[in-house]
Amino acid sequence: MVWTKRRQDYVTAGLFESGSFLRRCSREVDSRPVVFHLPAVTKDAELLIAGGGLTGLLLGIACASAGLAVTIVDPEDPSAMLRQGFDGRSSAIAYGSSQVLKALGLWPEIAAEAQPILEIRIADHESPQILHYDHRDLGNHAPLGYIVENRVLRRALIERARSLPSLDFSAPLAVRGVGTLCFGAVAALSDGRRVAARLVAAADGQASPLRRAAGIRTVEWRYRQTGIVTAVRHKRPHHGIAVEHFLPAGPFAILPMTGNRSSIVWTERAELARRLIALPDSAFAAEVAVRFGDFLGPIEPIGPRRAYPLALMLAQRYVAPRLVLVGEAAHLIHPIAGQGLNLGIRDVAALAELVIDTRRLGLDIGEERVLRRYEKWRRFDALVLAVVTDGLNRMFSNAIVPLRLVRDFGLAAVDHLPPLKRLLMRDAMGLVGDLPRLVRGEPL
Ligand SMILES: Cc1cc2nc3c(=O)[nH]c(=O)nc-3n(C[C@H](O)[C@H](O)[C@H](O)COP(=O)(O)OP(=O)(O)OC[C@H]3O[C@@H](n4cnc5c(N)ncnc54)[C@H](O)[C@@H]3O)c2cc1C
Repeated sequence: MVWTKRRQDYVTAGLFESGSFLRRCSREVDSRPVVFHLPAVTKDAELLIAGGGLTGLLLGIACASAGLAVTIVDPEDPSAMLRQGFDGRSSAIAYGSSQVLKALGLWPEIAAEAQPILEIRIADHESPQILHYDHRDLGNHAPLGYIVENRVLRRALIERARSLPSLDFSAPLAVRGVGTLCFGAVAALSDGRRVAARLVAAADGQASPLRRAAGIRTVEWRYRQTGIVTAVRHKRPHHGIAVEHFLPAGPFAILPMTGNRSSIVWTERAELARRLIALPDSAFAAEVAVRFGDFLGPIEPIGPRRAYPLALMLAQRYVAPRLVLVGEAAHLIHPIAGQGLNLGIRDVAALAELVIDTRRLGLDIGEERVLRRYEKWRRFDALVLAVVTDGLNRMFSNAIVPLRLVRDFGLAAVDHLPPLKRLLMRDAMGLVGDLPRLVRGEPL
């Protein structure tokens, strides 16, 4: 996208008058006018969201429910996204994230297919030491969180997005580039249209083309591990108990789904994971059974098996002029604690609160001051989780005897210190820190 800009220090006003994006912007600087020749804009929005994944859709819904004009674009076809085998994943939704879904009125569509997590048992390979979280220890009897199939979340979000009059969900369609001016941004879409917006949110995933185009640098590394995701049916009920079993190659998580089903997130060395994924069904089932154990009776793999290369990535900045990063465009963490999407949901809750409060005051939602507040609010949470999940993975994914002794001591210490255990439980539930209103279950 090209337009001419002959001054850096410009200020403009009134460019969104009556909801229409003017094609000319001028102001006297050094007594000479600065003139922008903007390309033809085919649509106006207050907020443009690149990416209709779980975080992009949720952000769009949160803002459009409060009356903001929102456009979301995504290159994936929504009907493909809703197919049973689209990503084969389930997510551990922390209690705080379920509060956001409840506050936005999305929970009734999800609840019937959400399995409450009542207990979590964390075990280290062959050690008898177990760290046991029980929701009853927190007194209010709320579950620690829920396991929900991503397909179910996506269905609820897409249906809601389609029903909101001030939300335009355009897919399949990609954002090809974004140009910024003092008063807003103009995004070029893959069908040739141009959308003008006050603010652009990049919710375009870990490779984030918009983050790269804005020149935002990242700290990142790849783990030599792959996350294998599949699901099993078992004979005995799981009673809402999630199990995290640390094996030398990485954690093997058994997450309770509705009915006698569990989702498995199995971290394995990358070379071995490639071979495991390619095994015939019976051989793959045998490999799963060896690691799963027999505590739920005989098991039978169901659904697709998928492999996800694992990496850590933190964007050095979360904002650029008229641009904010949300979800995995801003941070990618190891799935050891099942917190990646929860971080993204907290990004959404914080950004939606800032944007809506700013708009209610009649101010510009894309102003630098608003973006800086978002960055300050959200970066620390992601940094802490990235460090903690990286540290846990390094500490537990090995068979080194001295490290095993240290971690077993750690598990025992936490298990026997109720105040520390309660704090860690509340943290895993996403209820610690400066919480946005939606996470507290309050409306925007
Ligand atoms: C094995 C595994 C298990 C996990 N388990 C959990 C868990 O239990 N709990 C949890 O909280 N988290 C979990 N996570 C993390 C979680 O899945 C992710 O954090 C989350 O799905 C990221 O969502 P997102 O919307 O930010 O990004 P994405 O889902 O990557 O969505 C990005 C979207 O942007 C679109 N896009 C790309 N380019 C463009 C463009 N140019 N224009 C417009 N759109 C574009 C893409 O098509 C895509 O739809 C897990 C991750 C893995 C790998």
